[in-house]
Amino acid sequence: MKALRFHGQKDIRLDSIPTPELTPGSVKILPKFCGICGTDLHEYLEGANLIPKPQHPHPITKETYPLTIGHEFSGIVEEVASDVTNFQKGDRVCVQPIIYDGDCRSCARGLHNCCDKNGFIGLSGWGGGLAEISVVPQSCVKKLPDNVSLEVGALVEPLAVGWHAVDISPYQNSDAALVLGGGPIGLAVVQVLAGRGCQNIIVSEVSSKRREFAKHFGAHHVIDPVAEDIVQRVLELTGGLGADVGFDAAGAQVALDTAFLALKARGTLVNIAVWDKQAKLLMNELVFRERRYMGVATYSLGDFEAVIEAISAGKIVPAGMITKTIALNEVEAEGFRTLIEDKENHVKILVDVGKGLS
Ligand SMILES: [Zn+2]
Repeated sequence: MKALRFHGQKDIRLDSIPTPELTPGSVKILPKFCGICGTDLHEYLEGANLIPKPQHPHPITKETYPLTIGHEFSGIVEEVASDVTNFQKGDRVCVQPIIYDGDCRSCARGLHNCCDKNGFIGLSGWGGGLAEISVVPQSCVKKLPDNVSLEVGALVEPLAVGWHAVDISPYQNSDAALVLGGGPIGLAVVQVLAGRGCQNIIVSEVSSKRREFAKHFGAHHVIDPVAEDIVQRVLELTGGLGADVGFDAAGAQVALDTAFLALKARGTLVNIAVWDKQAKLLMNELVFRERRYMGVATYSLGDFEAVIEAISAGKIVPAGMITKTIALNEVEAEGFRTLIEDKENHVKILVDVGKGLS
């Protein structure tokens, strides 16, 4: 079969590799749509970071690159192992790609997303979505209702990140929320907050196009952090108090410097971003206003189901996140390059996995 594999920095190839076989408890899926994630781009430009390097196999999958990429995907079930009863050929599904050992101190507490050996299908091994066939454990497979398209099914993964962030944050119904960064994850947070009826969503984003997307998805106010004073604007928009909760999907020191100041006393800053460098914190702004700072990572059990239900019920309408659809043999030229050169005009680029195989 054909699979798009990472061979090292700026080296991805459409390879012919053996078709993966079913193992007990697994489901064979024909991937249909797969989103390109900022993490994929980061691996391509500066990796391998998360992708295991030769001599350093992933502790669970035991794999190193070259390996198949793509972790935001939907598809159609082709075949199931004899012991799998919840799925059958023809089911429309999406994949929750987290890999965990199930027996570490975090997994023992049900916190599989915080596993000491965590990994991802499409980054750490076990195949990926940018291939003709993917075989994954049945626990990773989530059915899509009839009114959720396969294209939208590929958006469930990034939306689940936003869902989880809001879910474990202290956000409550009447709160004012500040979202730093209007990329796919920031926009996922906006949609989740809007879906929960938040009446004051403020988004800070440099790109004017992404500020438009934020408004489209439910932001009540948008701020250009280059041209405007974020702290001043947030105070104006919150009756002089500051935001109750902040969500950092930017991961930049300049945004963090103002984020605490824009929160009210006892407000919480929720960090979703993955950081390249160690950050500096205005510690006394935490101390003297009793603000809190918390990290969130990916999603936990139930988040995928909750997002799928919210989409099916029309509480989240994410199709507008898809700004371009490309073929499997165009990922480098039309996917990665577009996200590098024209990032501000795009939110999510989907790969139509069945296209570009010949
Ligand atoms: Zn674990």
